[in-house]
Amino acid sequence: MPISYDCDIVVVGAGPAGSMAAKHAADGGVDVILLEKKAEIGAPLRCAEGVSKRRLLEVGIDPDPRWISARISGTIMRSPSGNILKVRECQEGSEVGYVLNRHLFDKFLAERAAASGAKIMMRAGCVGVITEDGKVSGVNVRHMGSEKEIRARCVIAADGYESQTARWAGLDTDLDPSDIETCLQYLMSGLEIEESFCEIVLGSCAPGGYAWIFPKGNGTANVGLGIQGSKCVSEGEAKVFLDNFIESDPRLRKGKVLAMVAGAVSTKPGISCSVGDGIMAAGDAARVINPLTGGGIRNALRTGRMAGEVAADCIRKGDVSKDSLMEYDRMWRSEMEDELLRSWRMKEKYVDMSDDILDKLILAVRDYDFERLRGDELKAAAKAMCPELFRSK
Ligand SMILES: Cc1cc2nc3c(=O)[nH]c(=O)nc-3n(C[C@H](O)[C@H](O)[C@H](O)COP(=O)(O)OP(=O)(O)OC[C@H]3O[C@@H](n4cnc5c(N)ncnc54)[C@H](O)[C@@H]3O)c2cc1C
Repeated sequence: MPISYDCDIVVVGAGPAGSMAAKHAADGGVDVILLEKKAEIGAPLRCAEGVSKRRLLEVGIDPDPRWISARISGTIMRSPSGNILKVRECQEGSEVGYVLNRHLFDKFLAERAAASGAKIMMRAGCVGVITEDGKVSGVNVRHMGSEKEIRARCVIAADGYESQTARWAGLDTDLDPSDIETCLQYLMSGLEIEESFCEIVLGSCAPGGYAWIFPKGNGTANVGLGIQGSKCVSEGEAKVFLDNFIESDPRLRKGKVLAMVAGAVSTKPGISCSVGDGIMAAGDAARVINPLTGGGIRNALRTGRMAGEVAADCIRKGDVSKDSLMEYDRMWRSEMEDELLRSWRMKEKYVDMSDDILDKLILAVRDYDFERLRGDELKAAAKAMCPELFRSK
């Protein structure tokens, strides 16, 4: 007979979405258990760690030097033949303000959840959901080698890209290969790069995706790339592309690889429904990564916070039915669905662009003053230069 615990809300996964959900649910006065399958929160890393300062502030997180590796003043976008567009952080559209130290950032978020009263169980992997009368009423957990049951009125699946909890609970988290980016990244040292700019390299160096150099200070950087799943023909292909990318750049060629991470991001514009009776999905589990950039920290923080707040509210009202939890689904859609769809449409165009078109596109926009230029003008400039981009498929 497995050991059994009881709580109001169990959150599966102590990444940004899960820790935010646990904190905000606990702040709502309910009893929360946060589960993490790994032995250490934030490790191993599967992220390039870029995030915008504005995006942290908007979810109530004050930037803290303890978990910031590098302050970034903007992004350099490089076309396949080397045309450059430099966009500063203060200008519209730039997403990067910091390269984080996610080992410490994720722990900081979990500490905040614990300070609000959430109990954290480490090496506690969810291995199934408990359902009664068609409603989710807890999870089965493998904890330090033994099986446990955690009974809860509501389960929040925040278990990331591979989320099984949401799927076990009946939510549709399926992805087409064209909505998956397969990523590989090295942490490298000894690089001669511009330390205060993140760099994105477009085109066939990473088919259907892009390559990145995100500086972490003192000549170190996360150097990686993502390839669209439907363009990957064999395993290990991402490594061949990444090694070629590094070899082709004299600033990177002499660098040393200190760590390697493999992972994937979804490029789907959100799950079709993120709640069921007694279940919610947040962060990557709800497929709310920006489909164009692959940046998911911001929306993980936002959906985590919303899920925690709505779950606590529903517990207090004594109603965790799908109808009641739908408040969360409506909330995140009203704030981010338009942007997700817009980015997804752009991604759909981007993945089929030739190197030639990307070269022209960067040339078309690079001389504009981004300080003053707004979205419509930027679009008009790109349309004038490359009308083919704006034809419907
Ligand atoms: C190579 C790469 C580079 C990226 N670069 C960036 C970037 O620069 N900027 C950006 O914004 N985003 C980036 N992302 C995306 C970003 O990492 C994610 O969007 C973000 O981490 C999502 O947070 P989350 O809390 O939803 O999921 P995660 O951070 O994945 O956290 C999920 C947690 O759940 C735990 N877990 C999983 N299964 C279970 C289980 N069964 N039981 C208990 N715990 C479980 C995991 O161990 C993990 O701790 C990148 C992703 C990859 C793969």
